Amino acid sequence: MLFNEIAYGPIHSRRLGTSLGMELMPLEHKLCTFNCVYCECGWNTPVSHPKLPTRAEVKAALEKKLQEMVNGKCENGTCLDVITFSGNGEPTLHPDFLGIIEDTCALRDQYCPKAKVSVLSNSTQLGRPDVVQALRLCDNRILKLDAATDEMMRRIDLPVNANLTVAQLIEWLKAFDGDFTLQTCFLRGEHAGKPIDNTTPEELEAWYQAVDTLHPKQLMIYVIDRKTPEENLSKISREEMESIAAPLRAKGYDVIVSA
Ligand code: SF4
Repeated sequence: MLFNEIAYGPIHSRRLGTSLGMELMPLEHKLCTFNCVYCECGWNTPVSHPKLPTRAEVKAALEKKLQEMVNGKCENGTCLDVITFSGNGEPTLHPDFLGIIEDTCALRDQYCPKAKVSVLSNSTQLGRPDVVQALRLCDNRILKLDAATDEMMRRIDLPVNANLTVAQLIEWLKAFDGDFTLQTCFLRGEHAGKPIDNTTPEELEAWYQAVDTLHPKQLMIYVIDRKTPEENLSKISREEMESIAAPLRAKGYDVIVSA
């Protein structure tokens, strides 16, 4: 499933409300620093010169959408709850990500001042100061950590940088002092002959420890929902997801379960 417009929607989401989606990656294929076995966009496609929308094109597409919405049925800019950057890969890979977020915040202030700006990211670009600066400008940072052991993170996320470690991701995530939503997909299955399971007692123990280290203001844990590129995956039940959330809720964490 690929998004083929720079600004798409708005779509209605139970969790986010009325959300306008923003696509900063190529419209024809996925481009990501992970290649998650569960990715709804499918496997990465190697392309030598991926075509990204320019900062000016993104600004123009967003302004056009906001004008259409505000001129339609919007009163006092209340027609939109959130502008969400996600889509066909990792949005922070865009070289002008900071400038695009600055433009987005300015347009939001002009047309829909009550709307939030949210980014879903896989956390791999947090070593770049411009990306951290951009994410700090946003209202919601939804940042991925699918497992807290290197072995399981690499089996689930298949990072393009095969040397990426969980310790590095955690160190980068500390930059936000807990002011972010930690997002984790729980799943079981097999890929390339190796088992995948981030719900074993050992994996959960490591993940709970990572959560306590980072102390995110919110956790969003979810299950696979649509067709996945790796077919040998199974969905975790809502009951089990609630039992994963329970010890964190008992400690006072805000945990959203999507199952
Ligand atoms: S980080 Fe997101 S876009 Fe990238 S491969 Fe994983 S699920 Fe897909």
